[in-house]
Amino acid sequence: MLTPKEALQKLIDGNKRFTKGELKEKTYKPEDLKKHIHGQRPYAVIASCSDSRVIPERIFDADIGELFVIRLAGNIITDIATGSIEYAVQFLGAKLVVILGHNYCGAVDAAINNVEGQTKSLQFLIDEIKNELKDIPENACPIEENIIIQLEKFIKKSPLIEEYLSKEKINVVKAFYDLDDGSVRFF
Ligand SMILES: [Zn+2]
Repeated sequence: MLTPKEALQKLIDGNKRFTKGELKEKTYKPEDLKKHIHGQRPYAVIASCSDSRVIPERIFDADIGELFVIRLAGNIITDIATGSIEYAVQFLGAKLVVILGHNYCGAVDAAINNVEGQTKSLQFLIDEIKNELKDIPENACPIEENIIIQLEKFIKKSPLIEEYLSKEKINVVKAFYDLDDGSVRFF
C-alpha cells in the first residue's frame, strides 16, 4: 500500500504524462477486468467537478481500481460526498483525498453571476456555492476559494478524516486543474 506522499507523487507523475501527451496505453480484455471483481484498493479519492472536460482518471493517467472518484457540479462536498470519502478512506484504504477544482467552472460562474436556476434543485445547487463564496475577499480567485472552503468544511464535518489526518494515515490536498494546458497544480 502506498503512503500518502507516494500517492500524491503518483498523481503528479500521471498528470505529467497527460500534459506531455504520453498516456499509458490501456486496453482491456474481459479477463483483465475479472482481476478487479474481488475488491478494490484505490490509493486516492478525487472529489471533482462534474464538468465533462475534467476527467480524473484521464488527467492523472490512472487505471481501473486506482481512483475513487466523487463528482458534483462545482466540486461541492455535500454530506453524501463526505460519506463517500469516508467510505473510501475507512474501508478501501485510500491514502490521499484531493479536492479538485478547475478554471472556466460553469457552476462557480453561475453562483458568482447570480444565475437563476429554473428548478428548485438547480437553484439549491447554485445557492449552495453562492453561500459558500459570499465572504471571500473581492480580489480572490473564486475557484481557489471554493476549493479551500469545500476542503475545510468537509474536514470539520468528519471526525474520521480529522483523526486519520492527525495520525498522518492520510493526507488531504487542494488541486487546481487548468483546462488551458491540462496541468494540475496542488496547493
Ligand atoms: Zn466545474
